[in-house]
Amino acid sequence: MSGGCQPSSEGKRVAVVGGGLAGMAAALALVENGCRVDLFEQKHRLGGRVGSFHDPRTGEQVDYCMHVAMGCCTNFLDFIRRTGVEDCFQRHRRLTFIGPNGDVCKFTSWPWLPAPLHLLPGFARLRYLTLGERLSIARCLMRLGRLKADDRRDKTAGEWLREQRQSQRTIDRFWSVILVSALGETVERVDLSMARKVFLDGFLRSAQGYEVLLPRIPLGEVFGRRVADRLRQSGVGIHLGSPVRSIGTLEARAESLTLADGRQFPFDALILAVPWTAIERLLLPEQRTLLHRDWDVQQIESSAITAVHLWFDREITSLPHAALVGRVSQWIFRHSPSEQASANRETSERYQVVISASQRLADLPGDELLTRVLGDLRSAFPKAKAARLLHHRIVTERNAVFSVTPEAQQRRLPTETGVCNVYLAGDWTQSGWPATMEGAVLSGYRAASMVVQEPDQHFPLPVGERKPSWLARMLFPRH
Ligand SMILES: Cc1cc2nc3c(=O)[nH]c(=O)nc-3n(C[C@H](O)[C@H](O)[C@H](O)COP(=O)(O)OP(=O)(O)OC[C@H]3O[C@@H](n4cnc5c(N)ncnc54)[C@H](O)[C@@H]3O)c2cc1C
Repeated sequence: MSGGCQPSSEGKRVAVVGGGLAGMAAALALVENGCRVDLFEQKHRLGGRVGSFHDPRTGEQVDYCMHVAMGCCTNFLDFIRRTGVEDCFQRHRRLTFIGPNGDVCKFTSWPWLPAPLHLLPGFARLRYLTLGERLSIARCLMRLGRLKADDRRDKTAGEWLREQRQSQRTIDRFWSVILVSALGETVERVDLSMARKVFLDGFLRSAQGYEVLLPRIPLGEVFGRRVADRLRQSGVGIHLGSPVRSIGTLEARAESLTLADGRQFPFDALILAVPWTAIERLLLPEQRTLLHRDWDVQQIESSAITAVHLWFDREITSLPHAALVGRVSQWIFRHSPSEQASANRETSERYQVVISASQRLADLPGDELLTRVLGDLRSAFPKAKAARLLHHRIVTERNAVFSVTPEAQQRRLPTETGVCNVYLAGDWTQSGWPATMEGAVLSGYRAASMVVQEPDQHFPLPVGERKPSWLARMLFPRH
């Protein structure tokens, strides 16, 4: 039953546990619909995995890791618009791929052509692939887009690509370049349906899906301060430094939660928006099975992401971002001078290299990783050869994202639970998305919609996907 077992949402007291994007999105949607919301976050800031730290050497706020959103992330875009932080992001319509030999390939689209034809000019410019490889990839993309659900089930992208006779070179130079960064896992392990989603939503269905949104200012400022202020102004009661220790009696319904300091909070409905690695600590074994008979969350594996922050004495590239093909370093982002502390503006140029699925590098000493990354940059950007590294920070988040394997797909849980006023949110729930900001916001909106929805009332969230072009609708029917 939706609506938290109560007929009306007006004035309903809702407790949201977890102040990441899922919890923040749920809280906003709930107050906008007349609920009284308390948001409990164990840390002393909101944002969860999206945040920044203070670098004492430069005095700058540095993001733990760059967070990229795409044009297809309709719920994330809705959330930043609703919270008034849209101007903190810059939209980029040109992607750059640097080939193994240093070829600079600009990827733009022809927006006047219907998707997926809009991609043809960009695709044609990927010169580090032979013409034969590009044609083989294009044919394979068409087959992927048309693949039925039954043919995708329990299969990894790697298995399917080999069945389609994709060569190791096309896997390394094309499929992995897109999929590893989008899904945070290797092609050999990622779920085929999620891989298909990346290509369909990001590239094949609509002309804007591939566009990239990058933050102009530190993420901690965007979500930890501006969005938090917006939530407070809307009436959300934000409790920072407030770890929730347990949920009271959980039977047909739940009624209260207990904080680590022993305080109790009663509620009419509860949204648990904590990560897969944290939810079990909140619940007794019997409570888990009450929420879901097939509780298997502890088996969901994590994947790591590493960000290498680099300060050089000069510019090594003026590109705002680029994908580095055939290297350990996967993406580079340039931090614009406006982001950098004024004291350093004249003296250093800051870049960030991101490596997804970096668990395979876990045993590599930091110095060795740095040497490899610098080697990659020198091979990609001639100006890097003369540049002097002034400072660096390596940040690896081992539980960055859940590993989007076919097994994990089966262990992700739906929003609704066996207890009528308890809901789950978070990127790891069954959002239909991989571990992304979009998946997190969508899951929060969905949980909120279940709390407030009344039988005769239309709740506008989550928002729908981007409208596909007429050609994409014909070529890639939904299944
Ligand atoms: C290094 C890295 C790079 C990434 N890059 C991208 C990217 O480029 N693009 C993209 O879309 N996504 C990216 N992601 C993924 C994205 O950050 C996540 O999918 C999203 O932020 C998850 O939000 P969430 O609200 O589901 O979970 P979280 O952000 O993990 O929020 C959960 C919150 O719950 C709190 N909590 C846990 N237990 C308790 C408790 N008992 N009581 C109170 N609070 C509790 C936690 O402190 C946390 O704040 C990246 C993630 C990482 C780590």
